[in-house]
Amino acid sequence: MSFRFDGRTNFIAGRWGDDPSGTQHDAVSPIDGATIGTMAWSTRAAAREAIAAARQAQPGWGRTSLWDRARVLRGIADAIRGRQAALADLLTREQGKPIAEARFEVGKAADGFDLAADLVKYLEGRTIPAEDTSKRVLTFYRPRGVYGVVTPWNFPVNIPVEYLAPGLAAGNAIVWTPAPTTALIGAALVQVMADADLPPGVLNFVTGPGPEVGDEIVSHDGVDGVGFTGSAATGKRIAQRAAGKAQLLELGGNGPVIILDDADLDKAATATAAGCFVNAGQVCSSSERVLVHEAVYDAFAERMTAAAGTIVIGDPRDEATTMGPLNNPEVAAKVNAHVDDAVGRGARAVAGGSRLAALGTDLYFAPTVLTGVGRDALINTEETFGPVAPLIRVASDDEAIAAARDNRYGLVSSVFTRDIDRAFRFIEAVPTGIVNVNDTSNYWELHIPFGGVSGKDSGVGRIGGRYSLEAMSDLKTATFTVDV
Ligand code: NAD
Repeated sequence: MSFRFDGRTNFIAGRWGDDPSGTQHDAVSPIDGATIGTMAWSTRAAAREAIAAARQAQPGWGRTSLWDRARVLRGIADAIRGRQAALADLLTREQGKPIAEARFEVGKAADGFDLAADLVKYLEGRTIPAEDTSKRVLTFYRPRGVYGVVTPWNFPVNIPVEYLAPGLAAGNAIVWTPAPTTALIGAALVQVMADADLPPGVLNFVTGPGPEVGDEIVSHDGVDGVGFTGSAATGKRIAQRAAGKAQLLELGGNGPVIILDDADLDKAATATAAGCFVNAGQVCSSSERVLVHEAVYDAFAERMTAAAGTIVIGDPRDEATTMGPLNNPEVAAKVNAHVDDAVGRGARAVAGGSRLAALGTDLYFAPTVLTGVGRDALINTEETFGPVAPLIRVASDDEAIAAARDNRYGLVSSVFTRDIDRAFRFIEAVPTGIVNVNDTSNYWELHIPFGGVSGKDSGVGRIGGRYSLEAMSDLKTATFTVDV
C-alpha cells in the first residue's frame, strides 16, 4: 500500500497533526513537477511542542532495559523491510533517485536499526585503576536526553536513521525535522516506525522551514544534543546556535580522488564514474574532483567519457534508468554555474555539460566529464553536488598532495595506485576523515567511522556503528571509596 499525505505530517507525542499557526506546503516531484502530497509548514510553536513531548517521554525510555530497546529497534527494522517497496517508490518520486538506488537505501535503513540493536548491548564502559588505593573507578554510558536531528534531502531515509537508530538505542528521545524537499518520505518513515512499539513522545517529527523549525530545535534549552547533516554553511550556523550542546555535525565534502600513474585505469575509471554519477552526484562523499597524473591523463579521460556514455538518464521509476533528475532548482543552478565557470576558465566538456531538455522537468543534468580543469575553478574549490567529473592534471605525487590539501573540505578521498608505500603516503598526507585505496570515494559501511577531519569545513565527530552510540551518549564516571 502506498503512502498519502494531506498536510498532517507532524508527529508529536504519538499523534499526527499540522501546526494551527502554520500553513501548508505542496511536495513536488522533481521527476515531472507533479504535486505528490501536502506537508505541514510549521512554525516554532510546533517545534516547541515536540520538544516538550520528548522531554516528557525521555526519562521512561531512558530507564527501559537495553534489551527491550533493542527489541523495539528490531521491530522497526522488520517494519521497514515489510514496507520497502512503498518506501522506495515514494523516495524515488520525491527525491528523484533511480528506483534500484531507492530500494538499496531503504534496505540500509532497516540494517541501521538492526545494527544499533546489536551494538547497544556491547556499549561497555571501563574500570579504571586509581592511584588512591581506597578508590574504585568505573565508567558507563547514559542517554544524553533529548536529541534534535536535522537532515538533508540527498539520502532522506538513510541519513536520518544514522541518528534515529543509535539515538533511540542509547535511550534518547528525538525531535527530527527533515529537509523540506524530502519531507514526505520522512513522514512515511516515521509512520512505519510508529507502527512498531515506540512509546508516544520518544520520536517526534516536525516539517517546515529549516531556519525556523530547525533553528528552534537546535537552539532550544530543552534539547541536549544535536545531530545535523547538511551543508557547511548551515552546519556552522547550527554550531553557534547549539553552543554548549553535544554536537555531531556531518557537513559537505569535495573529494578528492587521485589517479596515480601506476593505477589500474579500467578499475579506477569504473569506480570513479560510480563516485561521480551515483545519486546524480548528490552525495557528500562523491568524487567531486579528480586529480589525474599527467602520464595517464588522456587514457583515463577516455575511459571516463566512455563510462558517462553508459549512463541511462530519464524517469527514475523506470528500472532501466541509472540517473534521474537533480532534486531541486537550487542544486541544479549550482551545477550549471560550476560547469559554466570551469568552461569559462578553459575546461572542455568531453561528455555532457548542460541540462537535458525534453524530459519531465528542467532538473535533468547530463552526466558530464570536464577535461583541462584548472585549480582556480569553482568546481575544484567548492562542493558541486552534481553528476560531474572534473579532471585536473597533476605532474607528480607532490603536486597531487598539494592540490588535495588545498581545499576547505576534508571528508572522504580516494587514491588509486598499485604501490602500498605510495598509498600510505597519501593516506597520511591527505586531510580527509576517510581515505579509500583503490575504490570509489563513496565506499562506506554502516559500522565504519565516518566524518570530517579537524580544521576543515566537513564537520565534527564520527557517525557509524558504535561511534554514533558513543557520540549520542554521555560517558559517566562513578568513583567508590572502599575499606577493604
Ligand atoms: P542544507 O544545509 O541546506 O540543509 C540541511 C537541513 O538543514 C535541512 O533540513 C534544512 O531545512 C535545515 N536548515 C536550513 N537552515 C537551517 C537553520 N538556519 N537552522 C537549522 N536548520 C536549518 O543542506 P542540504 O542542501 O539539504 O544538503 C546537502 C548538503 O549536505 C551538502 O553539503 C552535502 O555534502 C551535505 N551532506 C553531508 C553528509 C555527511 O555525512 N557529511 C551526508 C549527506 C549530505
